Amino acid sequence: MLAVVAGCAPATVPDGDTDTDSDVAGDARVPRVLVIGVDGLRPDGLAAADTPALDAWFAAGVTTDSGSTQLTGDTVSGPGWASILTGREVEAHGVTSNDDLASISAATPTFLAQARDGGHTAAAAIHWLGVGVLLGSDSTDALVPGDDAAVGAQAARWIADGAFDVVFTHFDDVDHAGHASGFSADNPDYLAAIAAVDTAIGPALDAVAAREGERWLVALVTDHGGLGTGHSGATPPMRTIPLAMTADRGTLTLPATPSQMDVAPTARAWLGLADAATDGTSWWQDAR
Ligand SMILES: [Zn+2]
Repeated sequence: MLAVVAGCAPATVPDGDTDTDSDVAGDARVPRVLVIGVDGLRPDGLAAADTPALDAWFAAGVTTDSGSTQLTGDTVSGPGWASILTGREVEAHGVTSNDDLASISAATPTFLAQARDGGHTAAAAIHWLGVGVLLGSDSTDALVPGDDAAVGAQAARWIADGAFDVVFTHFDDVDHAGHASGFSADNPDYLAAIAAVDTAIGPALDAVAAREGERWLVALVTDHGGLGTGHSGATPPMRTIPLAMTADRGTLTLPATPSQMDVAPTARAWLGLADAATDGTSWWQDAR
């Protein structure tokens, strides 16, 4: 269950680091990003599932149970993940289904590709290989496929080793459970799949907390909701998603209309990259 914090909250580290105001001017810690991507995650499912690791982590962050998917495409995985990665609407990045992933526009680079252009390193551990197609060859220094447990373990290893500045993860079992038996907070199998993601990502969050000399932006995002055993279309159960972020420097502010397209511009701001076109809103501002 994630508690919802409306409006603005000072960004603090869950382990109790409270030096965000005193060290801003001379903060030499390396900015890093972890994105926890959970396919087909309904907000009421997240609220009902047993998720102690995510609860503990995002208790210090800004969360919403009424975020939105992109607004110009079908609520399926291809358009959704493309909008998360690029921060752009479907009409901009051009991915309209799971069958045209490779048509993602070169004019709408992923935030990982932009990070690499800015001198950072990036890696992704993914369950659904379609995300790898969207990432293409420019987005990552390492791309590792695997099941949900392997994705979490890979992310934890990368973070513990200080291997990359940006770590993107994609977990798919929640979507599988929804398709098999229902995208519903009343479905024990759906809730169990969400709990399993929590178990899988826990070591990665522990690894983030253990990194000294770094400052982390951590974001939880999903591509779409669901109803019954499916998803598509533009109804609230498909469009409404949970979002959560923490940042151990500066301030996170929930926009009026939070969106999955906010992750990319927030990561860009966090990494100090140049402004780029986006249909989302950065949640993060430096504390000056
Ligand atoms: Zn999906």
